Amino acid sequence: MAKAPLPQVVIIGRPNVGKSTLFNRLVGKKLALVDDQPGVTRDRRFGEAGLLGLEFQAVDTAGWEDEEPDSLPGRMRAQTEVSLKGADAALFVIDARAGLTPLDEEIGRWLREQEVPVVLIANKAEGNAGESGILECYSLGLGQPVPVSAEHGEGIADLYEALVPLIADKQPVEDEFEEDEEGEPDPDAPLHLAIVGRPNAGKSTLINRLLGEDRLLTGPEAGITRDSIAVDWQWTDPRDGKVRPIKLVDTAGMRKKAKVDDKLEKLAVADARRAVDFAEVVVLLLDATRGLEVQDLKIANLVLEEGRALMLAINKWDVAENASSLFNGVRSALDEGLAQLKGVPLLAVSAMTGKGLDQMLGAAFDLREQWSRRVPTAALNRWFDHAMDSNPPPAPGGRRIKLRYITQIKTRPPSFVVFGTRLDDLPASYERYLVNSIRKELGFGAVPVRLTMRSPK
Ligand code: GDP
Ligand code: GDP
Repeated sequence: MAKAPLPQVVIIGRPNVGKSTLFNRLVGKKLALVDDQPGVTRDRRFGEAGLLGLEFQAVDTAGWEDEEPDSLPGRMRAQTEVSLKGADAALFVIDARAGLTPLDEEIGRWLREQEVPVVLIANKAEGNAGESGILECYSLGLGQPVPVSAEHGEGIADLYEALVPLIADKQPVEDEFEEDEEGEPDPDAPLHLAIVGRPNAGKSTLINRLLGEDRLLTGPEAGITRDSIAVDWQWTDPRDGKVRPIKLVDTAGMRKKAKVDDKLEKLAVADARRAVDFAEVVVLLLDATRGLEVQDLKIANLVLEEGRALMLAINKWDVAENASSLFNGVRSALDEGLAQLKGVPLLAVSAMTGKGLDQMLGAAFDLREQWSRRVPTAALNRWFDHAMDSNPPPAPGGRRIKLRYITQIKTRPPSFVVFGTRLDDLPASYERYLVNSIRKELGFGAVPVRLTMRSPK
């Protein structure tokens, strides 16, 4: 079955607000597919984009830079009109640090007259910057702005949330009875694995232990990013004797160690961010001599927000004191803390002695399988009916909120859309109930699950 064309998302905005940066972030590794088409379309770039599993064609309307800065000239308008024709959504980017300019307002007025749904993006908002700019842009009358940092990759989950209702129903759908190339990935494909954690947790020791001499045989493969390398190696699964390929990203190992501790802590988060771009499964390494710390939770959260499968391993088990109370303490901190950490696999390992490493890798493969699983339609519908029966949506003001059906739009991570009416009145607690029930009842206990509510047009 041929794939349907991807939904089109056009990036619009005045020069220098960060359109190209956003485009590059969305298109990411697929940048090679970007086509700088000469001639008619030379002012636009196209690229296949993936946003936490949501697929679309991103269109960067570069080339406006040539125009006079303070007006929306005819040629630019014509170009944009062409871009918007057939587009499913427009991302209107403003610079939150600079605030609104007359040109932003002019583009905004013009966009309001167009038929395409608009998501307002307040860019350059990293680390809570640009607050006043974010407030200002409510005045555009284009709804709630989504603060992001295209450069630093912040706000991506919010952008996903804003975009999913607009293009979820236009995702390429595979025939259920055909080979599902993405939904059920080849279990023999290399597992993309990253090991992250605070400085001194033992990442380098672990990686060296895992790779052993193989590292010398295969050698590092250059550049996932400037600061990290990927290493291919083979692991023999003791459960069935099968040889399984693993591609391991080594973010920290190759970087020169900084001197100041504080800086190292920040680097740990930056490393995790990069690892997440690359990995299917992320192992967060804890240090048994230190336990679970705030920084660990920060990293865990980041991994899950980006929709990657996460597991935790307590390293240095060989020197752990009160081992079982340490383990139970971490386990209950995970289960009682953030809802999304409930059920995340936790193991004890020693990079020094090798203890627990086979279990860790086995669990990582299992986790990828869960993360990649598509629920058969019949089972999904059965779950939905049961969830509606046993805890129906509330009826604020006496009018019942109707949820009609559910569909799984993506895997990796498993992503669902529930269609219904009067969704604005649906309490967040009810959405949480649905997410928890999906995780519990449909076998996604340990992986992040995305749920979006949507009204049919
Ligand atoms: P375009 O002209 O709209 O395509 O903008 P560019 O993508 O070329 O970005 C313009 C400038 O803004 C560049 O110097 C970028 O590095 C910078 N920039 C882009 N995104 C961000 C961001 O999220 N934060 C900050 N601080 N700067 C950004
Ligand atoms: P990284 O900063 O996370 O890469 O940590 P390193 O791999 O450099 O390890 C930091 C320190 O912890 C080193 O002194 C290691 O020898 C030690 N270490 C790492 N793993 C273990 C382990 O399993 N047991 C013990 N006892 N020490 C370990």
